[in-house]
Amino acid sequence: MLVPVTEMLQKARAGKYAVAQININNLEWTKSVLATAQELNSPVILGVSEGAGKYMTGFKTVAAMVKAMIEEMGITVPVALHLDHGTYEGCLKCIEAGFSSIMFDGSHYPIAENVEKTRELVKICKEKGISLEAEVGSIGGEEDGVVGMGECADPNECKMIADLGIDILAAGIGNIHGQYPENWQGLNFDVLAAVNEKVGQMPLVLHGGTGIPADMIQKAISLGVSKINVNTECQLSFAAATRKYVEAGKDQQGKGYDPRKLLAPGAEAIKETVKEKMELFGSVGKA
Ligand SMILES: [Zn+2]
Repeated sequence: MLVPVTEMLQKARAGKYAVAQININNLEWTKSVLATAQELNSPVILGVSEGAGKYMTGFKTVAAMVKAMIEEMGITVPVALHLDHGTYEGCLKCIEAGFSSIMFDGSHYPIAENVEKTRELVKICKEKGISLEAEVGSIGGEEDGVVGMGECADPNECKMIADLGIDILAAGIGNIHGQYPENWQGLNFDVLAAVNEKVGQMPLVLHGGTGIPADMIQKAISLGVSKINVNTECQLSFAAATRKYVEAGKDQQGKGYDPRKLLAPGAEAIKETVKEKMELFGSVGKA
């Protein structure tokens, strides 16, 4: 069964740890993440971008696959299926498809329009028992082909959006999607502290978790961050393990070309990355 993120993140916030949102791209990815969460007795959030949803033929396919895998694999830890950076239309589609959580990314709208659309989604999500994440201050890096440096959210705008009745808030604090550039300035903890003070007990989300140093992660958690998104790091470890297999010529030995063999090192590498993240975020044993 899928659950919204509300309760797991309130527990995380109170317990000073964070739950990982691991983005999924296919069956192998999902299987690796679920197996690791179960093995470590950790809650987990499966993130699906609109692009990944399209790649997997649609949100209905994703929801059906994840629900069936939870049942067939005997997964008992809390699992949320969450739309990552959704458009307004994408949010409606995921609600209909059976996702347990959505993120509406209205950060590119003027604040008044972000407020208006968020307000409408709050109403729908409350009726359906789905959790809702909203974003203030766009997060840097490459999003839909546009590369930007990490912006910082206005704490007053964060309060305005938080007061609409959302469950969790993503605030830009200089974080970036993808790999961090050499000249990155680091997370802005003054902004994070100000946002945290404004929004009270609301769990905060840190996007762009790939490559943020461990001490910054710990400090962010101490300032209210309860969900950390990881996507690129799994892609990098999957690609490196697959490359190693092919470069060693293993796909040309025996039945090494069998996709179940060819994709196995990558799937194992994802497990390793997810395990590292869950240990770093402190969610092991918190299911
Ligand atoms: Zn993000």
